[in-house]
Amino acid sequence: MSTHLPTDSIAPLRHFVTQMTHLIGQSLEESFVRPKAKVLLKELIASDDWLPEFCTVPHPQFYQQYLLYADPLERFSVVSFVWGPGQATPIHDHMVWGLIGMLRGSETGQRYERDADGSLKPVGHEEALMPGDIDEVSPTIGDIHIVKNAFADKTSISIHVYGGNIGGVKRHVYDPSSGAIKNFVSGYSSMQVPNLWDRSAEIRAQLS
Ligand code: FE
Repeated sequence: MSTHLPTDSIAPLRHFVTQMTHLIGQSLEESFVRPKAKVLLKELIASDDWLPEFCTVPHPQFYQQYLLYADPLERFSVVSFVWGPGQATPIHDHMVWGLIGMLRGSETGQRYERDADGSLKPVGHEEALMPGDIDEVSPTIGDIHIVKNAFADKTSISIHVYGGNIGGVKRHVYDPSSGAIKNFVSGYSSMQVPNLWDRSAEIRAQLS
């Protein structure tokens, strides 16, 4: 027998993925899925002991997007967003529904909408997310925003869930002054994904 005894610290993420798979199998309708996915995400980010170390590593220049899981039918994806000190997105949209769950640190978001003449105008004011908080975006409720690490001196991490494989969705960034649109695809920051499927700790514990 191996002396390597893995713990099952990834179990909360595996549970989330299993529940999301059940949920999305019932319906693809956003109005059905998004509120229920939000409840599941709330549960996932209630603990902070399951995110693999390699999905927490900031880059000195760019915010990182580590894929945690993509549904094989690309009906949803789960991503760890890692913000280095002071890092920010451009103004962007998503083209699918998305949930942003704050895990560590804090980030601020400002929403925008596009006028008929193509110019961008801020909607409401900048809002900060604290650990446990969830923000929602979607073409149906407002899809354009800019997000920043609230801290200039430390890393922040949020867990995002999207109604598609966000690494393959054609979406847009917006020029803040002219409102001009550019196509973009975010992709992912790593070739690795967490191993959700080593259940040996659990099974060994049942061995007599
Ligand atoms: Fe976003």
